[in-house]
Amino acid sequence: MAMLEIKDLYVNYGMIAALKGISFEVNEGEVIALIGANGAGKTTTLHTITGLLHAKSGSITFNGVELTKTPAHKIVEMGIAHVPEGRRIFQNLTVLDNLKLGAFTRKDKENISKDIEMVYERFPRLAERKTQIAGTLSGGEQQMLAMGRALMSKPKIIVMDEPSMGLSPIFVSNIFDIIQTIRETGTTVLLVEQNAKKALSIADRAYVLETGKISLSGKASDLINDASVKKAYLGE
Ligand code: ATP
Repeated sequence: MAMLEIKDLYVNYGMIAALKGISFEVNEGEVIALIGANGAGKTTTLHTITGLLHAKSGSITFNGVELTKTPAHKIVEMGIAHVPEGRRIFQNLTVLDNLKLGAFTRKDKENISKDIEMVYERFPRLAERKTQIAGTLSGGEQQMLAMGRALMSKPKIIVMDEPSMGLSPIFVSNIFDIIQTIRETGTTVLLVEQNAKKALSIADRAYVLETGKISLSGKASDLINDASVKKAYLGE
């Protein structure tokens, strides 16, 4: 059984069908990329997994438990952390307080300070800025904080929505290096990205979403060499 299984998922916004029967799976320990053009339904997919949107039909199971009828806060408790598009950190709180809030649902409170140190090791920029108000961090630093906060919940899987959006090339590399290190700790990653090249270069497998349907899937190393993917998503 896959860790996360999406089966024949339909999601509508009013009369508009955003997802038209998508199915895919994420196995434990994998990094899976979901790529596709603007409006293809990538964010809709992540929001439905994390309980922010309701499915019209279909199922999403996480270790066998149905998520489509589970409230969002329970989904977080089950070990699914969401790094949303546009970051959405707590702008008026410090870096440290944002990290502490990431650990909100944890039962093992005694390990929280150790894990904050672990986040600081992984993101030295955040360590230098512990007491800085999050809203004054640069875009790249806010992205790091959003990832650090997600890690503080000790997730089994992290779903990330366009972590590279709006970042300069050096920060983009940095963020993808960090995704690699997250994978090395055994955390599963579902990654939505416009930057298909970067996403395919670190993912194990990938799914291409096209106007609400999955048009292509396979090993990331195969897709990166696929002629149609190159033309449509890699700008080659
Ligand atoms: P992008 O890469 O541009 O973020 P995406 O693949 O994440 O795109 P979604 O945000 O999932 O795409 O949107 C899928 C479709 O659903 C789009 O056609 C979008 O206009 C539509 N949509 C999204 N949110 C709403 C909403 N709240 N009301 C109506 N339609 C919506």
